[in-house]
Amino acid sequence: MNFSSNIAELRPSATIAVSTLAKKLRAEGRDIIDLSAGEPDFPTPEWICDAAVEGIRAGRTRYTPAPGIPELRSAAVASMRRGGRGEGWTLGPDQVVVTCGAKQALYNACTALFGPGDEVMVATPYWTSYPQIVSLARAESTFVAGPADQGFKLTPELLEAQRTEATRGLILCSPSNPVGLVYSLEELRAVARWTRDHGVHLISDEIYRRIYFGDSGESAPGLLDLDAGDVGSYVVVDGVSKAYAMTGWRIGLALAPVEIAAKLSALQSHSTSNAATPSQVAALRALSDGDRADAEIRSMVEAFRRRRDLVLDRFAERLPDLEVVVPEGAFYLFIRVDGDYGGDVADSQSWCSAVLESVGVALVPGAAFGDDRYVRLSYATSDDLLEEAIRRVQKHRAESD
Ligand code: PMP
Ligand code: GLU
Repeated sequence: MNFSSNIAELRPSATIAVSTLAKKLRAEGRDIIDLSAGEPDFPTPEWICDAAVEGIRAGRTRYTPAPGIPELRSAAVASMRRGGRGEGWTLGPDQVVVTCGAKQALYNACTALFGPGDEVMVATPYWTSYPQIVSLARAESTFVAGPADQGFKLTPELLEAQRTEATRGLILCSPSNPVGLVYSLEELRAVARWTRDHGVHLISDEIYRRIYFGDSGESAPGLLDLDAGDVGSYVVVDGVSKAYAMTGWRIGLALAPVEIAAKLSALQSHSTSNAATPSQVAALRALSDGDRADAEIRSMVEAFRRRRDLVLDRFAERLPDLEVVVPEGAFYLFIRVDGDYGGDVADSQSWCSAVLESVGVALVPGAAFGDDRYVRLSYATSDDLLEEAIRRVQKHRAESD
């Protein structure tokens, strides 16, 4: 069958593929520990679920305006401004587009801002969907990575070395999936100023902003923590999926200057129309009750922090020769495994397949994130499962020696 050149480069999501395989093997009776899925293991807080149910019963079941219900757009701005953020910025609800997950915010942004002949720099290791979304916009990704021993972070020098006449965008993710790296305010400012000075659109994926273990407060630095003058053209990608444990509700947010937001909305009006209305009603409750949400987020982040420490401790004890990047946010551990390559295990894909096959632990190959030396573990699961998974990986490696 001949398919359109729109999808010539398209590959299915590797993260979703691994977690689907893990679910299938489990359904077949295999004892699988799935550390592939990037989603919180907590249920959505009940009071947020209640809002959706009440909304449905009250008839909030119809289309909404394409960029979302006005109260939610306002609540999104207020929520992003919490903690005194965005001081000096002109921010209004007309700058927010409510999307079907953060994924659609990225898709809308790339489709609206980039096209054939454009190059988009992608901070590497990258979340697996970025290059695919760029290629759906018919633009080209160029991959830029900082040194691994500095958490792969980008600097203006690294960016400048790779900039060409065709460079139109940069996609940055902090706290990052898959590494858990977090840009400090100064580092972020330097990158933002570089994009501003070169007319490069900055797409800042801040979906994990609240899942932060650092000491500069309850939220990792994001664009709104900078002076407005430091930032040129931007799209901040946010949403409720991760921090509010609402992955299945499919609510994301894009915040951008008004003229960009209007285009994102126009694009969406011809694709999904609007994010599901009951989900918007739930997100409205989540974002409107900031104190209550903060308490929920705090307790989830405490659990993620404890698990991060647990996984780091167990790696130091049981797998000390595997190098890891100490995560400062999100809920992933990026593990360097290329020291094990040899014989049948030649790359991150075959390393993960061997571990899944022999001891039933599902991890995602680093190749899906642009670095084949690594694999990704999601620690958004129970302490017991994490302990058991690490024991199993240790056993597998001892047996394959
Ligand atoms: N950005 C990053 C970095 C992610 O890890 C994810 C995970 N799904 C998304 C965006 C998309 O989020 P959503 O589920 O809200 O579409
Ligand atoms: N973002 C998550 C992950 O990286 C969820 C899966 C996906 O949307 O790719 O695993």
